[in-house]
Amino acid sequence: MEIKRLDLGHLVVMTHQWPVHGYVILHDQLGVILVDTGCGGPDELLRYFHVVNRTVADALADHGLAPIDVTTVINTHLHFDHCGQNPAFKHARLMVQREEHERIFRERDEVTDWIEASDTQFELIDGDVTLAADLRIATTPGHTSGHQSVIATTELGTELFIGDAAYTRAIWNHPDMAKLPDGQAADADAWHDSLTNLKILAPAEVHFCHDG
Ligand SMILES: [Zn+2]
Repeated sequence: MEIKRLDLGHLVVMTHQWPVHGYVILHDQLGVILVDTGCGGPDELLRYFHVVNRTVADALADHGLAPIDVTTVINTHLHFDHCGQNPAFKHARLMVQREEHERIFRERDEVTDWIEASDTQFELIDGDVTLAADLRIATTPGHTSGHQSVIATTELGTELFIGDAAYTRAIWNHPDMAKLPDGQAADADAWHDSLTNLKILAPAEVHFCHDG
């Protein structure tokens, strides 16, 4: 198994610039797996967050790959900066938690409308899923109610792809509820429990979507 980080540009919240990353997992049996697809969605939202986007096709090309090579996309959750380039992967399995898909329709906003209009077909999953002996999906609610993470066993040990379960390594290391950035935890108790469950795995490496 090989891991590649994709540089998908950045967005700005207030005055803070956050990088946006997705991850490619090159898996012997499953092929090319992509965890999160970067920013996309309605123009007004991209304008609001001053998104400087990099297409997922360009980011994959950095590693000699193209969107058509991707067999499986796993969206950690359905925020616009994690599923925004899903339409480039209509040929692939698009795996998301059923709860996350239901959430966006409960909380309907412009991103829900955009996802609906983009006519992508999700494979909705319920809870933890084993994809291979060395790769699984685990629910990690809190950032959103249907958030999920990906857990790989590599030659390094356990590697985690945690989406927005923690925006940065600093938050992962010191999850201080009093100092969290806006939006980090929609449900603080669930969020804290999810981080605890991930840390119990004693990961050799944690891959963040918004860390430098
Ligand atoms: Zn998010």
